[in-house]
Amino acid sequence: MMSLFDKYKGLEAQRELILKAGRDPFGVCLEKIVSPTRAIIEGRQTILAGSNNYLGLTLDEGGVKAAQQAVADFGTGTTGSRLANGTYDLHRDLEAALADFLGYKTAMVFSTGYTANLGALSGLANADDMIFIDSDCHASIYDGCKLSGASTIRFRHNSAEDLAKRLRRADAGCGKLVVVEGMYSMFGDIAPLDELAAAAHEGGAMLMVDEAHSFGVFGDTGRGVAEAQGVMDQVDFYTGTFSKSLASIGGFCASNHEMFDLIRVASRPYMFTASPAPSSIAGARSALRAIRERKDLRDSLWKNARRLHAALAEQGHDLCADPSPVVAVRLPDRAMAVLFWNALLEAGVYANLAIPPGTPNSASLIRLSVSAAHTFDEIDAIADAFKAAQAHLASMPELAEATAAL
Ligand code: PMP
Repeated sequence: MMSLFDKYKGLEAQRELILKAGRDPFGVCLEKIVSPTRAIIEGRQTILAGSNNYLGLTLDEGGVKAAQQAVADFGTGTTGSRLANGTYDLHRDLEAALADFLGYKTAMVFSTGYTANLGALSGLANADDMIFIDSDCHASIYDGCKLSGASTIRFRHNSAEDLAKRLRRADAGCGKLVVVEGMYSMFGDIAPLDELAAAAHEGGAMLMVDEAHSFGVFGDTGRGVAEAQGVMDQVDFYTGTFSKSLASIGGFCASNHEMFDLIRVASRPYMFTASPAPSSIAGARSALRAIRERKDLRDSLWKNARRLHAALAEQGHDLCADPSPVVAVRLPDRAMAVLFWNALLEAGVYANLAIPPGTPNSASLIRLSVSAAHTFDEIDAIADAFKAAQAHLASMPELAEATAAL
């Protein structure tokens, strides 16, 4: 008889090989947070080099105080969905602040960035519609398409030409939505939003952009890649998360469309889950204020990103994109990536290991995300750890052999 767990047999074998390289890269525990850029891991102080804490605001004094006050005033949880007992003044106020910041009529807050994409996509499209997604889109976008029931067409990553071709072939009568990201989270590369918006609108589609990794990071005022490319007015639906530059947990979708607010009573991921906790909303609200008022944070982030990119390029690493707050280093294969990741942790740097099937084009990556809170010394220490890891692996060919089958 088949067991439900038969499908995990391959994964189990892979895990055993991964453990031969040192430890479980997907089971690391942060025992204590020392600062936005340092934590105690395996009893040692370690530099965090993959936290997505782009503006370093997770321990910001204003944010921590606001979150503490929200707990005191509103409690630890809302215990309800937005449509039932889970909409507080705090949620409404944050929605108004996000809409005002982005220049949209309406913003809707969801419990995570994942549910923001699920909720927006399944609220907007159904089985009569078509969704066109960039092939490198995040899992939440793929899952949102599935939940919507719409026919989903993938187009070549960042290719407005391929998108236009696929739109031309589509059924003229159905509703159409194009979905892309601002900055892609794995390689740190940027979408040509101007070209993609033109192709979408010429093809009779609306455009949704997920700026999860670019909100607060790109653009003169931090409104993302759409702002940096001067196309905010061409983005019909703008989604984002609180779990990166906003240093909290939650997500949102904003739009100018007259009927957008109706999604609240049609979107299952909005209706059937509890709303974000008061402390999460207050933390995100405080971080949004910091994004508006502290351009210095963005400046520091970009200085750090350029410094790290330049140092790793000088060491001869294969970098996946131009300088951006995500610096992805390509390794020849899965086994080398796992070994390299372990060696970095031994050298005091906790990076993200990104391996197939979770990566575009089956790339094996060490993914770094830079923070405004990193000091130049920390950035240089991350670069030095790459040198140490390289040297360590060169001296241990037997390790590579033991894990080659990965
Ligand atoms: N969109 C993108 C592009 C992401 O990378 C992520 C998560 N990393 C999400 C959405 C989901 O965000 P959250 O962590 O808030 O669920």
